[in-house]
Amino acid sequence: MRLVVVGCAGSFAGPAGPASSYAVQAEDGSGRTWTVVLDLGNGALGALQRVLDPFDVDAVALSHLHPDHFADLCGLYVYRRYHPSRGVLHDPALGPLAVWGPSGTERRLADAYGSRDDEDMRSVFAFRAWSPERPVRLGPFVLEVVPVRHPVEAYAIRVTGPSTDRPGEQATLVYSGDTDACDGLVEAARGADLFLCEAAFQEGRDLLDGIHLTGYRAGRAASAAGARRLVLTHLPAWNDPQVALAEAASAYAGPVALAAAGTTYTL
Ligand SMILES: [Zn+2]
Ligand SMILES: [Zn+2]
Repeated sequence: MRLVVVGCAGSFAGPAGPASSYAVQAEDGSGRTWTVVLDLGNGALGALQRVLDPFDVDAVALSHLHPDHFADLCGLYVYRRYHPSRGVLHDPALGPLAVWGPSGTERRLADAYGSRDDEDMRSVFAFRAWSPERPVRLGPFVLEVVPVRHPVEAYAIRVTGPSTDRPGEQATLVYSGDTDACDGLVEAARGADLFLCEAAFQEGRDLLDGIHLTGYRAGRAASAAGARRLVLTHLPAWNDPQVALAEAASAYAGPVALAAAGTTYTL
């Protein structure tokens, strides 16, 4: 399976790319490529079009409902409804795209878009609420969520699928979403082949509790979970990325990298 970083700027789009969005791709037994998009923050729909045709997305999986993680679903709604030849208005056979997210995702998106007709929204998206007890099966993927610590309902997302690096085996990608340190994060990241973890804050600078991780806290979670590789993400434009990297390396002995828009990882 592959992870394509569509956007990884923290909290708002930055000069080097959009806010959070990650395309996870793998082939099933028949060779068909499946794509799940984890989050679609502001600016991400533009960059996503460099990765694939948005009509080819099989599902969107939202960690939480802050704009830097879901705002571009508004643009995807326009694309899938009004595209002059392929949108649902012209081709009703297109059917709605599955959107997994926190409770209330449909209402929040309708409010953000200004939609007055729920049926219009449902013609484009099939909304499904996460349940930590219920894994989601989609093509070659299994998606599981674990609640994490953020000011709104938020989840870490664990994606298991066919390994590219170890043919015939399964690989696991874990995405933290937005969270401060918590047991749920470590539980979600247990044994991950790649742990994509936010590090929006800096030790000693950002003292708010219950919102974000630092590089140090991301490193500690990766160590506690036994993750094989750590990729730091969601760094706001005002951060020095080298600080996050050094903090993480002080708490985690495995390989650490900084996410960059346009980068592909195999696992
Ligand atoms: Zn965020
Ligand atoms: Zn957030």
